[in-house]
Amino acid sequence: MTSDLARGEDSILFVPDVLKQSAELHRLEAEAIAQNQSPQTVSEAYVVSRAQYRRCAKQDARAWENHRRWLQDQADSKLALRKSLRRADISKRFLALGFVAADFDTLHLDGSWCSSCLYQSYDDDLAEWEDYEEDLILDTHDEEPQTQDQAMSTTTSDAQGAQVRVGGAIIRGPSLEQKLGEFREQAREEKMAAMLADLHTDCMPGPASLYQFFQSDERLTDEEWEKYKSPIVACVHRRRFDRIWREEIAAHDARQKRQEALRPLFGRLQPPKRSATSARASIPISFAIFLALPTVETLWYPANAFIDARGWPPLEPQILSEICTRIRLDKVVLFDRIVRAHVADNGVLPSTTMKPIASSSSSPFIDCDPSKGLVPLHAALTDRDMDPLFAQVTSLFRCGICSTKLPYPDIAIHLVDDHDVPNVPAYAHVPSSDFRKAIKSLLDDLGHSLQLELAAFEFFYADCDFDVTMRSASGQFETSVGETWAQVLSGKSPAELDASRLKLSYSTDRDIVGIKLSTASVSDEDA
Ligand SMILES: [Zn+2]
Ligand SMILES: [Zn+2]
Repeated sequence: MTSDLARGEDSILFVPDVLKQSAELHRLEAEAIAQNQSPQTVSEAYVVSRAQYRRCAKQDARAWENHRRWLQDQADSKLALRKSLRRADISKRFLALGFVAADFDTLHLDGSWCSSCLYQSYDDDLAEWEDYEEDLILDTHDEEPQTQDQAMSTTTSDAQGAQVRVGGAIIRGPSLEQKLGEFREQAREEKMAAMLADLHTDCMPGPASLYQFFQSDERLTDEEWEKYKSPIVACVHRRRFDRIWREEIAAHDARQKRQEALRPLFGRLQPPKRSATSARASIPISFAIFLALPTVETLWYPANAFIDARGWPPLEPQILSEICTRIRLDKVVLFDRIVRAHVADNGVLPSTTMKPIASSSSSPFIDCDPSKGLVPLHAALTDRDMDPLFAQVTSLFRCGICSTKLPYPDIAIHLVDDHDVPNVPAYAHVPSSDFRKAIKSLLDDLGHSLQLELAAFEFFYADCDFDVTMRSASGQFETSVGETWAQVLSGKSPAELDASRLKLSYSTDRDIVGIKLSTASVSDEDA
């Protein structure tokens, strides 16, 4: 009966109460019978009044339950408020240290503060973990409990046996012992790694009491903060580092995507690919230099940059002018370089066209400080000043990668088109002084002025061969007979470069000390 009552809504009626009620009903019925009345009427009246009573009781119970819930809610919200005040206290400390909410706002959720990781001491954990794993193995292989330790002890007795068997061979003893030690050490390392992967991948170094630090509903005091701050700040610091690292990687990837999206614009602004006739006409630039142009940079660098090809055409004239500026700057740097080489070789400025600029004291670009060399002249240099010098046979540049000798601007085209270098001046070198001397004495021998243009030279000697004397690595001289002019100036082929890429002291240049017109070709001409 109790269990029946306890089930439904009737559970608000207690067993003694039910007994009392039924006794009362029997009493009323008995009285009615005693007064010769029908017990039915009093019974019905009693049931009605009883139903009313139960309705009131249920209403009261509901009211009390609601009240109890309200009180609980109040208590809960007060607790939550106190906890949030504490979190705000903690947040204030972190914000004052320069962290952002993303670095520390989930610390109170993670219960995995770990003192083993804090002190980097895992010996106890390893022992516990080993016991646990052994139990597991024993449970699964009850009939054959061969653990790794036992396997190891078997090896030990084998090893001792080996030592006994070899008898006097003392040398083998320590090496076996050593191997065993290494084996044990390796087994321990493997176990340690497995244990760490199992138990300590997701924990934060700090005393376990830190969980309570974050869960407490008391306001944070200075003393408490001083006591706990070191491990917490270290942890938040690491989180911030991870966050910044992730953000940087994402930003870098996004920037690279935007850069790649600019390739069509880059392709459109490049001059047509080199052909036999236009080799010296227009100079390409590398994609890296293109991206670094001020106007182009605004298209991809800002984090909110949006690549839209419809916005490119109005920018193109500006970008082209920046490309021209860049090419001119490279040209001036190379001009400066070749002029210095000529001055070093001859002690005088090389071209007569240069002298009026250099000697004009009225020029605003002349700075009397000799240490600045030609630098003050750079802004005044025009193509008309530079091109005659670049055109000379004596003004060849050496490719820094394959050592081919080329005049400007062929060297720039070669570096960008063939080697895809980002920075032309960094790879366009003046050839060795021996090579420069060899060219000069060749011109002397042939009776040409040093100002002879390369085009004229190549025209005169198109069908001639040359004997090239080189210094070998051991200092011996050797002569290569009958090279064409193109061979004299050639560098290493891509295959040769690839083959010797890994050699440490490897020069791609031939150490040329003399170039002579091949006697064979002279006699051919005479004949
Ligand atoms: Zn841990
Ligand atoms: Zn090259």
